[in-house]
Amino acid sequence: MKLKETLENLEDQVKERTKELLLANNYNRNLIETSLDPLVTIGQDGTITDVNVATEKVTGYRREELIGTDFADYFTNPQDAKDGYQQVFQKGVVKDYPLDIKNKDGSLTPVLYNASVYKDEIGEVIGVFAAARDITEQKKAEKKLMEYWESLEEQVKQRTEELAKSNADLKEFAYIASHDLREPLRMITIFLQLLERRYGDQLDDDAHEFIGFAVDGAKRLDKMIMDLLEYSSVVNQELIFNDTNLEEVLNEVILNLNVVINENNAIITYENLPVMRADENLMILLFQNLISNSIKYRSNKNPEIIVSAFKEGDHHVFHVKDNGIGIDPKQLDHIFTIFKRLHTHNEYEGSGIGLSIVHRIVHQHGGEIWVESEPEKGSTFKFTIKN
Ligand code: ADP
Repeated sequence: MKLKETLENLEDQVKERTKELLLANNYNRNLIETSLDPLVTIGQDGTITDVNVATEKVTGYRREELIGTDFADYFTNPQDAKDGYQQVFQKGVVKDYPLDIKNKDGSLTPVLYNASVYKDEIGEVIGVFAAARDITEQKKAEKKLMEYWESLEEQVKQRTEELAKSNADLKEFAYIASHDLREPLRMITIFLQLLERRYGDQLDDDAHEFIGFAVDGAKRLDKMIMDLLEYSSVVNQELIFNDTNLEEVLNEVILNLNVVINENNAIITYENLPVMRADENLMILLFQNLISNSIKYRSNKNPEIIVSAFKEGDHHVFHVKDNGIGIDPKQLDHIFTIFKRLHTHNEYEGSGIGLSIVHRIVHQHGGEIWVESEPEKGSTFKFTIKN
């Protein structure tokens, strides 16, 4: 009686355990099947022991067809798959191992595998559990990005070629300007002068004066062409950035302007000038233009020009201050425009290109330029240069 009772008790316990196991099994199966990632278990010999629905979908084969076959057969590169499988055995785990799954219908799915070994109850490795993450969308995005990148590179290449071409055109234009335009101009001057020499005694005073105006005009046009050439060479010039000592630049400028400085009794002082990254020749050109203007547009006082600098954020700020005639406030914005002049040729010589060269140089150095001025009192040209 006791034995029967014990047996019945045992049977109940077995039933209960079996039910529990079934439930747990069911639960695990459900978990596996609901996973969107293809999951697979592989035995030690490399054959598939279990798969989920996602694996059926991605391979195009049914579970029964897959189980028992070599897992490596379902990849475009079986050897890569086998190497990955070996790595799992050696390291116990692999992360983000890239492979391409081959479907029965020929379509491919790029995936990243994460796999680890699984062991029996005594700790013996009995196979590999592998989960694949479909990266088709990621690959598509990468491809799009690559294509975009390539098209950008192509555009940059095209733009560079266009720019190189327009630069070459400009250089050619400058060449034509210097040779072809100056040549007829020289003829006009020569023949006008010849006319005056040969027939001078037959001409009246007015005619002499008219010839003088015409020669003068031709000479000015020649000067404008030369200045335009200089401007175009500054525009096209490739900048050579070096550590540039601005005090040395100023010394050079003063040396170059020696004659006009002496003729005008000009006094030029400078203070706190930095050493900074800049194109030295262009810096000389810039200060030379500003200082020669300050002397040219002098008042009846002896010219006094002060050059100073200070640092503000990532810029150096420069001031070139003079005690000259000053500028009409209405004209302040226009003076940097090419060929813009505020005076007639008779008042002051010039072609209105100096300040546009200065403007260009400042911009090439990542800066801005402006002027503050009061008529009769003098002007201060202010500009920044990026450090
Ligand atoms: P240019 O001196 O050949 O006329 P710029 O481009 O150098 O050409 O200057 C443009 C105009 O700006 C000048 O015609 C002059 O009227 C004015 N200007 C330039 N610098 C000064 C200055 N320091 N003081 C007064 N006026 C100036």
